[in-house]
Amino acid sequence: MTKSRGRGSRPSQKEAGAPAPRPSGGAGRRPQQVRQGVAVSPGVAVGKAHCLRDLLVGGETDPLDDEAALAEIARYDQARERTVQDLQALHHKVRQQLGERAAAIFQVHEAILHDAAFTAKVRSWIVDSRQNAKAALRRLLEEYTTLFERTSDEYLRERLADVRDVVIRLSQHLAEVAQPPADEPDGPVILVANELVPSHVVALGKREVAGIVTQAGGRTSHAAILARGHGIPCVSGVAGVLNDVTDGDLLIVDGREGHVFIHPDLETQRAFRRLRREFVDLKDQLAENRDQPAVSADGQQVELLANISNLDDARAATAMGATGVGLYRTEYLFLTHADVPDEEEQVAAYRAAIAASPGRRITFRTLDVGGDKKMRYLGLQRESNPFMGWRSIRLSFEHPAFFLTQIRAILRAAAPDGGPQKRVRLMFPMITTLDEMRRVRRLVRRACRQLAAEGHGCGEVPIGLMVEVPAAAVAIDMLLEVADFVSIGSNDLVQYLMAADRDNPKVSHLCQPLSPAVIEVLFQTIHACQAAGKPVTLCGEMAAAPRAFLLLFGMGLRSFSISPAFIPIMKELTNHLSQAHAAKIAARVRRMNTAAHVLRYLGRQLTEIAPNLAIVDSAT
Ligand code: PEP
Ligand code: MG
Repeated sequence: MTKSRGRGSRPSQKEAGAPAPRPSGGAGRRPQQVRQGVAVSPGVAVGKAHCLRDLLVGGETDPLDDEAALAEIARYDQARERTVQDLQALHHKVRQQLGERAAAIFQVHEAILHDAAFTAKVRSWIVDSRQNAKAALRRLLEEYTTLFERTSDEYLRERLADVRDVVIRLSQHLAEVAQPPADEPDGPVILVANELVPSHVVALGKREVAGIVTQAGGRTSHAAILARGHGIPCVSGVAGVLNDVTDGDLLIVDGREGHVFIHPDLETQRAFRRLRREFVDLKDQLAENRDQPAVSADGQQVELLANISNLDDARAATAMGATGVGLYRTEYLFLTHADVPDEEEQVAAYRAAIAASPGRRITFRTLDVGGDKKMRYLGLQRESNPFMGWRSIRLSFEHPAFFLTQIRAILRAAAPDGGPQKRVRLMFPMITTLDEMRRVRRLVRRACRQLAAEGHGCGEVPIGLMVEVPAAAVAIDMLLEVADFVSIGSNDLVQYLMAADRDNPKVSHLCQPLSPAVIEVLFQTIHACQAAGKPVTLCGEMAAAPRAFLLLFGMGLRSFSISPAFIPIMKELTNHLSQAHAAKIAARVRRMNTAAHVLRYLGRQLTEIAPNLAIVDSAT
């Protein structure tokens, strides 16, 4: 256990600065601004801003001279050639896996690139208006937008989305053939973006990221999950921050209170640098408990599993002392892959994840796209309610061959091959009805029969569901009859129960896992699983929030799946807990009427139980 450090170690509101502009700390300095967002990943970061703007924004240059204009056309042609090759490869692969209908979109995109008017316009703007290729593409997109937005024809509006996709793909290739920008700050940076998508993370490569600030997104948006996965302090929902910050500006990210300081004054810098050191020290101290079991003060065993999305996460989970993987989000394999991974590529990726992951258990979740995670080749259309629409398992059912390929790949990877034996489990997201659960079971049986007939090994895997839709929570007893295990996906369950979009900062006060209604549903679900003798885990982000962890432990939950960076913290908290005390706290919470009351009460309890964890606790 670590030495106690009380809440007194937070900078006072005066030290940290209230969320309002303050005078500058020195002559010639720009005044400090404080912006409030949603605290999504705890900790504190101080560093220089690195803004990730829309690919199509910025990059203006002086008018090009003759030579530069010719070079720009050559650059554009090169980018265009690469884009054509990209689209042809995608078309080929998607046709093989999903059929011609799904692949046709890439031919449409290629046709746009070959359209004579499209290319003529870009070239003439480079030559006649002396603009660079990026500015010409931007102007082209503006022209098409003005033209298409006047129409009420849904088909033509969809074509605008296609033109935009093509322009973005072209711009990405243009950026690759361009010189890297010279003014990027050295050393660790604080990323500032509208939202963070997986390709940003891939693009960053090995660059060290100290903190993240986003304009969009809420507590469980995928930016938040990526940040938490890497243990990076993050504040989301800071409206318009990209207008106030430029590359190289000094920023402070306070991922517990949800504050972002722009041009912090010296007093504030000093206070937060001290806090950051405390945060890093705490993480270092706790990392030493990685080989200790997660056992409460009164001897209750707790399972601390990891949520992972890739091999790096699997390694981090091992380094942090996770006892297994409770959630492998397989969609990131698809979202970050240059094209569509086929069965062999998937088998290889899943085997690598099994080998790299800790403990003796790994749970694969099948593709969970739609909502905020888009894959054009699956035919995703603009929907007015994407989270309530065609996403996740619903989309997988519509592409049975594609879905079956994934199930086959997981079963093949699970087959014992003489290597380290691990229990592989297969989990299906967003299950809403009993029929869906029966249908996935039939698909798994079909995949097993096929694999046996082809002479492949096939692992025996327990089949489980994620409880993310209120209907599944209400009908849990029925679903348990056909499920081997359950994992509660509280990120989605909370947004659906509270009818509050998890990515919309305007409703983040409602998308609150410690609301009385959510607590009641969690309690009923956990107890239904326990009564049926079926293993239950909670794998949403709340499992790594100290206040929620305390409550869930008190309600009897003993299995948590969380971002690797939080394993040592939750292990430390577990060491401080006892069943009798936590059960009393949970019973009291269940009688409370408001989230604010629950949050305050749990905050006070936590301060008494584990004062050294104040720095990773968050009240928002
Ligand atoms: C969840 O909904 O709680 C969950 C773990 O899944 P995701 O965040 O990937 O939607
Ligand atoms: Mg979910």
